Amino acid sequence: AKSAGGNRFELADPEADARAITRHGLTTALPAALDRGEFFIEYQPLVHLGDGSVHGAEALVRWLHPQHGVLGPDQFIPLAEHTGLIVPLGRWVLEQSVRQARQWQERRAGAGPLRINVNLSPCQLTHPGLVQDTVDILEREGLDAAALCLEVTESALIGADDDLLKPLRRLAEMGVDIALDDFGTGYSNLANLRRLPVSILKLDRSFTQGMQQFPADPVDLKIVEGIVSLAHSLDLAVTVEGVETGAQAEQLRILGCDTAQGWYYARPGPPERLHELALVDATG
Ligand code: C2E
Ligand code: CA
Ligand code: CA
Ligand code: CA
Repeated sequence: AKSAGGNRFELADPEADARAITRHGLTTALPAALDRGEFFIEYQPLVHLGDGSVHGAEALVRWLHPQHGVLGPDQFIPLAEHTGLIVPLGRWVLEQSVRQARQWQERRAGAGPLRINVNLSPCQLTHPGLVQDTVDILEREGLDAAALCLEVTESALIGADDDLLKPLRRLAEMGVDIALDDFGTGYSNLANLRRLPVSILKLDRSFTQGMQQFPADPVDLKIVEGIVSLAHSLDLAVTVEGVETGAQAEQLRILGCDTAQGWYYARPGPPERLHELALVDATG
């Protein structure tokens, strides 16, 4: 694309043009992809920092595109949001994930249920069917609401009015956990947290990046320490994402974070993988 006013900001960029064409192609292919069953879900374990036991898993959607291979959510979720397909796609992800969590639960009889975390796009929040769809899915699949956590990004809730919070409040009252995803990237007013029906903060990966080495950057440590103590004083649990090394895990544990997720424990993978991890865990 060339800018009209000369080349101050943009130059002709064949790669950008190619990307635009690909984007257009992907956008038009999206609805049929859902019908054809081209989406699939990978699950990444969430572990307790205290003892490393598996707490649950986050569902992360992928698209097995017939020409382009496996596409990550960053390549198609924005397009699905733009076209509205995110609503049926999000409902599908929720249904699959809840069904999967129920299956894990059956295999782990005796051990506590594995929790399942599902991402919600802001478009799903404003869709009037959200609460009823969720109730229906939990009922149909036979999963306890307390085993479900819905992740909403901090930026989606900044300045949220009551209309937007109402469905989340309803879900929270039913026992569904609401997690504030990518926390720390949205510059939200910390006092605002009390107003939101959330029970979990998911600390963004950018905070854990400074802790890959030991000892970590002292400023990073102070910031995380402050967030954890604020969260705990508000009765919120803290999950950290992007834990890639043992040094990070250890420092985050010392700082009092509750649960963690990252490549150090496991990459996102097929549901059977979680089965193995959690079963080992359940049987000691
Ligand atoms: P997110 O919710 O912040 O998910 C965490 C992302 O970090 C995932 O990327 C995960 O694969 C990646 N990750 C996990 N551990 C590590 C680590 O140790 N190091 C690094 N560098 N990365 C790690 P992924 O799967 O590409 O998903 C990207 C984003 O797409 C997600 O970010 C989420 O916002 C969105 N997304 C994924 N699935 C869904 C979905 O079903 N619905 C909606 N609305 N959004 C989704
Ligand atoms: Ca998430
Ligand atoms: Ca996140
Ligand atoms: Ca993120």
